[in-house]
Amino acid sequence: MVILGLGTNLGDREQTLRQAVLELKALLSQVICSPVYESPALLPETAPKDWDMPFLNMAVRGESTFTPKALLAEIQALERKLGREKRGHWSPREIDIDILACDGVIINEPTLTVPHQALLKRDFALIPLADIVPEWVYPGRDGKMAHELATQMASQLKRTDLVIA
Ligand code: AMP
Repeated sequence: MVILGLGTNLGDREQTLRQAVLELKALLSQVICSPVYESPALLPETAPKDWDMPFLNMAVRGESTFTPKALLAEIQALERKLGREKRGHWSPREIDIDILACDGVIINEPTLTVPHQALLKRDFALIPLADIVPEWVYPGRDGKMAHELATQMASQLKRTDLVIA
């Protein structure tokens, strides 16, 4: 099982998420989608004001036959297909797809960290993950389940009415 995190704050955000999920269904089997949330952009204080555009975020789980590295290459190709352009680190983006977790796998390599290095710091990643894999246990820690970690997290994440399945 893999769990991906999707985010978009540029262009037709809803349409981009719908297209991303459609494409992910060609890569993964047994796809399940979380609710869609809206969250403010994470920005350093020096960022231009016009970068301050809210994200739509969701998580998607599925079964994969790819190795984690091969899956990373696939989702990066999908980001490009969906119009992601190379801009600065904090800049708005048409789509961002991250590997949040792969079962109990731990990877610490220069190009790939699994679970995602920011998973426990970002409500817009952990909360949708907990919606679809509430009993997933963060590997190598104290055995807390995703729903417990998500409940402990201070968050003002807004759930939208969008349904993407
Ligand atoms: P991003 O700006 O989020 O698209 O990601 C930039 C870089 O993060 C990519 O070039 C990846 O090599 C690296 N990366 C490390 N860990 C992950 C992960 N779990 N999921 C996606 N990208 C990752």
